[in-house]
Amino acid sequence: NKQVILRDYVSGFPKESDMQVVNSGTIKLKLPEGCEGVLVKNFYLSCDPYMRRRMTKYDPGARYVDSFNPGSPISGYGVGKVLESGDPKFKEGDLVWGTTGWEEYSLITGTATQSLFKIHNTHDVPLSYYTGILGMPGMTAYAGFYEVCSPKKGETVFVSAASGAVGQLVGQFAKLSGCYVVGSAGTKQKVDLLKNKFGFDEAFNYKDEPDLDAALKRYFPEGIDIYFDNVGGKMLDAVLLNMKMNGRIAACGMISQYNLEQPEGVHNLMSLIMKQVHLKGFLVFNYYHLYGKFLETVLPAIKEGKITYVEDVAEGLEGAPAALIGLFAGNNVGKQVVVVSRE
Ligand code: NDP
Repeated sequence: NKQVILRDYVSGFPKESDMQVVNSGTIKLKLPEGCEGVLVKNFYLSCDPYMRRRMTKYDPGARYVDSFNPGSPISGYGVGKVLESGDPKFKEGDLVWGTTGWEEYSLITGTATQSLFKIHNTHDVPLSYYTGILGMPGMTAYAGFYEVCSPKKGETVFVSAASGAVGQLVGQFAKLSGCYVVGSAGTKQKVDLLKNKFGFDEAFNYKDEPDLDAALKRYFPEGIDIYFDNVGGKMLDAVLLNMKMNGRIAACGMISQYNLEQPEGVHNLMSLIMKQVHLKGFLVFNYYHLYGKFLETVLPAIKEGKITYVEDVAEGLEGAPAALIGLFAGNNVGKQVVVVSRE
């Protein structure tokens, strides 16, 4: 069973050498006697920014998920097939998505089985989509945009890290809601994707903008109604100066801060008072009750071509460490996926 092991806790930017791909030897593809879990063959793994936080030692109260254990395989969201099940909810051959190990085969037990979703639609969309647009990042975009931001037709929307797994979908939801939407991303290729593939009205490369406040004023002369924040830091500070009265900010993620020992300060919070802006942090875990409704919206939209999706696919577990750390250098163009096996 090939596995991706965390060597030791990480500080600063993660490196490929913080992980190691090992072969832990032949395993019996059989559930242990009396086990109520499921044995899964992993097909696709999802690279997600929150995994970086799990690479540092657990700081109680500071996080909502446990640290990885050095010397053990890391885990994350993935898609796989049930080989054997001791859980009445699943049977051999079921396709599932949820938390799994970064390895070829995983034994999923305890609370992790409760967060496994059975995949019913296996024909019209690629299975890997359940690591992204039809899985956790898709639900994040849906809950964050519709539930937290309450968009209205004609409103102005700004999305950061806009070409990534979550951002590309938020931008498209904003267009489907009749909003004006601008995205920021870190390369020209990504900016082109935002405008030409995902239908953003405008997009800019934040790395080419020495003055983010001036850039936002250029695209939002009247101000921003909704900011979907994936990055935090300097961008959030600049956005605070450009919010409209009664604007909403969904604090989804702050990837610019995840590798810093000391998070940067935010200076412009007073704007929240002056403009009566509603800033709300949210966690996708609290919205999975909407998953059925979400699928009913997004699946047909994908099939009808109303929503499009871009993945960046790394082949094999050997490429998994580089794919994961690449998120923090902006190497991924679209949702970063790792293929473990295609069947
Ligand atoms: P992405 O697919 O967008 O990948 C990460 C991207 O972030 C990179 O490609 C890069 O794009 C950008 N980035 C990396 N470092 C920086 C930096 N220092 N400053 C600005 N941008 C940076 O990731 P996801 O779509 O999966 O996640 C987006 C955000 O949503 C993350 O913050 C994540 O933690 C958060 N999240 C929150 C959830 C919740 O429940 N609240 C659930 C899921 C995700 P670029 O080239 O444009 O810089």
